[in-house]
Formats: sequence, structure tokens, C-alpha cells
Amino acid sequence: MISVSELLSVLRPLHLCIGKTGHITQVGRGFDKLGQRDLTGRRFLEMFEILRPSQPRNMAETLDLAGQVLRLRLRSEPDILLRGLVIADQQGGAIVDLSFGIAVVDAVQRFGLTAKDFAASDLAVELLFLQEAKSSAMSASFSLNARLNGARLAAEAEALTDGLTGLHNRRALDGALSQLSKTRTDFAVLHIDLDKFKQVNDTLGHAVGDALLKQAASVMRRCTRQDDLLVRAGGDEFVIICPGLVDELRLSELSQTLIKGLSAPITVDATEVAIGASVGVATSTPSTQHDAAHIIERADIALYAAKRSGRGRHVIWTPALGTRLNDLDIPHVSSR
Ligand code: GH3
Ligand code: MG
Repeated sequence: MISVSELLSVLRPLHLCIGKTGHITQVGRGFDKLGQRDLTGRRFLEMFEILRPSQPRNMAETLDLAGQVLRLRLRSEPDILLRGLVIADQQGGAIVDLSFGIAVVDAVQRFGLTAKDFAASDLAVELLFLQEAKSSAMSASFSLNARLNGARLAAEAEALTDGLTGLHNRRALDGALSQLSKTRTDFAVLHIDLDKFKQVNDTLGHAVGDALLKQAASVMRRCTRQDDLLVRAGGDEFVIICPGLVDELRLSELSQTLIKGLSAPITVDATEVAIGASVGVATSTPSTQHDAAHIIERADIALYAAKRSGRGRHVIWTPALGTRLNDLDIPHVSSR
């Protein structure tokens, strides 16, 4: 036949018995996981603090609380609030029945409790299953959101990238220019077009042309700063936006470095290929009021001037070159 203490342990894993001296005489198995195996023999009021209705000072006052719902906590685990009920026995002692109440979720996490640590009929077990289901659903939803977000960022980056060279594309250029106009940041535009590129395609094939375009992109990456925006605007045309750089001497140096790099021969399929490049430069000025379309047009005009004066060189736009691209007879510069 099952003893009363065994019965209590099965039905109420978190109970304890107190003798008439106020010392704990027996604890339920639920205290093991709480790291409280040595409660037996200790004074109940030294181990527990009764928060509500009031802290008793001795066993007689503890018994006065019989029948009332107590709020209490283990002094060694003050974060975990417990509910309790004191039931007086006939020998001057008491049984104190405890439960985690609302703190059950915290307690489960903190002490690694499982369904076995609760009475089979305890509602907390149902609550824990619900909590576990909710956590799994939340973590599945978080990971789905993270994947969707990653896919969205990748799609956005792809929409702004030129597939062949990995540089930015024209859409990214438009976005960057409108941002610069809004923030009224000074900037320079370098419009670069490879010289006689069509001939490479025609004589050596499109694949060699592609290799040259990729090589041009890596030269531009090498010669520019982190903040500069490198764009393949289409075909063999590139645009570099340099925020904060309007000094003509430095822009001349940059253009020459680019032309030198772009003119270096490369070997494709054992064939050495060399090509040149022309550069048109324009900068934002107080009179352009950071109007990006104007500045781009001036860089186009300067590029045309560089092509017309022999290619393989750079021209910085000046008012003498005019301001209207459409007024010029320019067969090779694409209109925007
Ligand atoms: P110019 O010195 O006046 O610039 O002469 P060009 O021969 O370079 O003439 P243009 O810049 O007008 O020619 C660009 C050529 O680039 C035309 C087109 O066949 C070629 N092209 C456009 N896109 C690609 C591409 O993705 N790959 C390759 N290989 N060629 C391309
Ligand atoms: Mg060209």
C-alpha cells in the first residue's frame, strides 16, 4: 500500500512538510531540479520568504496562514515567485503545497523542468506544451522572415548590379544621383568610354570583348576610393561618381591613372589585346545647383570632346564646350 508521503510526492511534487518546531521534515521530488535537495532539516521560514499576506515570525503564525493563498519565494531563488497553501496537520505541523503559478515558464527554462516534474493532472503541463508549440512556431517564423529578408536584399542588390562586370548599373546610378542632389553633396562625374571597342568584338569575338569589359571594371575598382560609385552604363560606357571630389587637378590625375590602367594590354586565350579609353569629366558647381542631369550632360560633352580630339585622353568640361549635348553632332555618345 502506498504511504501518505509517497502519495503526496506523486500528487504534489512541489510540497513540503513542516514539523511543529518549524523545521522541514519532508520535501517533494520536485525540489530536486530546483537544486534544493538539502531543505530537509532546515527552518521553513529561513528558507522561504512569505511576501503575501505577511511574513510569519514563527510556527504559530505560520499556522495562522492556513487556508490562505500565499505568495512566497525561496530566498536562494528570489526571481521565481511561488504560490503556496498551508494545511495544518494534527500534530502541530503543516503541509505546504507549492506551485509556480505564473512563473512556470521562467521556472521551466531556468531549471530545465519537464512534464515529469509536475503532477500528471497539473494544468501547467498543458500550458508548457502550448508554450513549446508557440516557441517552435515563432522560431520557424523568425527563420522564414530572415530567409525572405535575405532573398529580398539579394534581389534588390541584383536589380542594381551589372551582370557582366559586377559594377552598379544605370538604375543604381539614377538612385545615387538623386541622393546626391537631395543632400547637396559636391561630386564629380567621370564618363568613360573604351576606344575602338567595336573592333575588338569584330576581329577577336564577343568573348574577348567581354573579358576586356571585366578587366576594365577591375582597373576602375583598383583606381578609385571606397565611396566612389562605379557604374557600367551600357556597352563599353562607364560612369564613376566621386562624392566630395571637385578638385580639377586631382580629377585630372585620376583620369590619367584610369586611362593608363585601361590601356594596359591583357591576354585573353593567348592573344594579347590592348585598347584605350577616353574620359569626360564634369563637377557640380554652385551654378548647376547639384542638378545631376546637367552634370551628366556636361560629362558627356567633355567625353565627346576627348573622342574628337584623338581619344586616349580626358577632358574636363568648361563653359567653352557648351551646355547642350543635343546641339552637337555626336554619333557615338548615347543620349539619355
Ligand atoms: P569609340 O572609340 O568611338 O567609342 O568606338 P567604339 O568602337 O568603342 O564604339 P562604341 O563605343 O559605340 O561601341 C560600343 C560597342 O560595344 C558596340 C557593341 O557592339 C559593344 N557591346 C555592347 N555591349 C557589349 C557587351 O556586353 N559585350 C561585348 N563584348 N560588346 C558589347
Ligand atoms: Mg567605345
